[in-house]
Amino acid sequence: YTNGFRQQYLIQHQLGKGHFATVYLCVEIATGNKYAVKVFGKVSKESQGSQMLDETLYQEIALLKGVNHPSLIFLREMFDEDDGVYLVLELAPEGELFNLIVSREKLTEDETRHVFRQLFEGLNYLHVRGIVHRDIKPENILVIDENLTVKLGDFGLAKLIGEESFTTTLCGTPSYVAPEILQENRRRRYARSVDIWSLGVVLYICLCGFPPFSDELYTEQNPYSLAQQIKMGRFDYPSPYWDSIDDQALDLIDKMLTVDSEKRLTVEECLEHPWMKNEPPIVDAEGLTGALVKLDFSKRKVERERTLLSSVNDSFYEVFKGGSGGVEDAEFKVFEKTAAEERIHNPVSTNVHQDEKPVI
Ligand code: ATP
Repeated sequence: YTNGFRQQYLIQHQLGKGHFATVYLCVEIATGNKYAVKVFGKVSKESQGSQMLDETLYQEIALLKGVNHPSLIFLREMFDEDDGVYLVLELAPEGELFNLIVSREKLTEDETRHVFRQLFEGLNYLHVRGIVHRDIKPENILVIDENLTVKLGDFGLAKLIGEESFTTTLCGTPSYVAPEILQENRRRRYARSVDIWSLGVVLYICLCGFPPFSDELYTEQNPYSLAQQIKMGRFDYPSPYWDSIDDQALDLIDKMLTVDSEKRLTVEECLEHPWMKNEPPIVDAEGLTGALVKLDFSKRKVERERTLLSSVNDSFYEVFKGGSGGVEDAEFKVFEKTAAEERIHNPVSTNVHQDEKPVI
């Protein structure tokens, strides 16, 4: 701890506000470099909540001090001043991922995969060190640049868990909390798996633009409160929003939003999941890009395999019909990349003429 924040930094406009702190943009006078400063105002010892503030503050500082990973907001230095404690943090110039999702409605699969690779790496760093974030939501995922470099921020609720430590504190934001936290009368270990659940909710939102669990989904057919939906793991992939999304993404979400926390994927397993491994389409010798799409009409979704398009003909696609691969009622198609990325509305007739592109 040092003081003299105002000798070294100029505070500019407010970037955001949380329960215990306000975050401002600040400029280091000597260099002109920009940072974010999180200011915890000091409260009189008598006032309610001061103990909570102290606890939150010192916990956050203790955890942040030891954290150094490209996907986690870095704590540069801190000051103890008369009017508050100042944490100088790495700046996330593009703000919250939440705002980005709202402005774009949703993200593409490739963008989402890019964001999640970073988040899983950052979370893995924390989990390996026994740190549970406990408050993952799009507001706490900060965007660094237009290439969607992201970092996890707000370690206010993060906790270092010893193998023996148990806690049942209700924390986190309702829409993102794991079912075991809502489970009453059960003393449960606050495990790393709560972060996977929350990230599963964020993954769902990134891909379709709306949340899997919500009080707004309350209808006669679905008369369940938000808490009930979460405890039952009751959510859906409504059409048409999910029609064009790779089945593997749904599989990953299913395995992250698994009510039984023991069966939920770990962060390492998330990184190894096939959807995370899915590389962008391969470009062949003629510069044609594409994807081999296996349509299985007996299933809800489309299985997709990326392949080298050495056999693409002039019209950019070929249609093969048959029961190969042991799948009945299946068709194999090679689509032009752009077409393959589009939503598949209608099963395609097998009698496709050269000049007639499949209805995509
Ligand atoms: P909470 O009530 O969620 O625990 P908090 O008091 O811990 O919040 P933060 O969530 O850390 O505060 O910060 C509040 C807001 O300030 C963030 O949601 C974000 O908009 C902004 N913010 C925080 N850190 C940064 C940063 N490093 N760069 C840019 N903006 C930031």
